[in-house]
Amino acid sequence: MFMHLTRRVLTTAGIASLLLLAAGTGLARAGRKHGDMPPASSSRNASIWRVSTAAPDVAITFDDGPDPMFTPRMLAVLNRFGAVGTFFVLGMQVARYPGVIRQEATQGSEVCNHGYSHRILRGRADAFVSGDVRHTQIMLDGLGVPRCRLFRFPYLASDAASRSVVTHLGYRIIAANVDTQDWRQPNPEKMAAHVLGRLRAGDIILLHDGGGVRSRTVQALGLILRGMAQRGLHAVTVSQLLATVPHGRPPAAGEE
Ligand SMILES: [Zn+2]
Repeated sequence: MFMHLTRRVLTTAGIASLLLLAAGTGLARAGRKHGDMPPASSSRNASIWRVSTAAPDVAITFDDGPDPMFTPRMLAVLNRFGAVGTFFVLGMQVARYPGVIRQEATQGSEVCNHGYSHRILRGRADAFVSGDVRHTQIMLDGLGVPRCRLFRFPYLASDAASRSVVTHLGYRIIAANVDTQDWRQPNPEKMAAHVLGRLRAGDIILLHDGGGVRSRTVQALGLILRGMAQRGLHAVTVSQLLATVPHGRPPAAGEE
């Protein structure tokens, strides 16, 4: 079941990336091809792709875990650099590997909600969306990790209705503006060069610790963190990044 879903992720994402290449656009636009609404910084329901901040901070995010093999390896790399990340986890994986979740929290990374089993939530009934999100949150609360009020939609696929449900449950919706496409298992040096070539303070980087073989992502993570350190950029959690935004000024949703 999960493998089937995973293949579907790859196919969907593969098509999206072809469109992306053809159009020569950024991820924000690719997100809109998935049905996301055009960004409106005044809307509480808008997805946050990056933030405008004066702090030299970047958020590295990891999706689809926890994974018993690759998540601890990501954590070891983060630890080596004194860095923390944001893990958008699947409820069904939380049930299988609770110890990995506790390790994430113990190291100071934040553990946030990515839905229960990576089903698409766009176009679903409100009750389906809220059930999927709540089910995952109950599992995380049961482990006693600090509660994270951020949500990332599976496939970054949302619509106005599903975003409204998630917002009313008390979450902010997090996308990412720096996509590594690490699920394609590109060369780690190329992956890191792609990220570092465009990285600015306030960016949100998308990586995967679950859903497949992530050895190359582990290698790329080390290279990215080394490059960030050389440029004086710190890896913080998404919540910490949002907290650097001046009071009263909303994050730059969709801003590029
Ligand atoms: Zn995902």
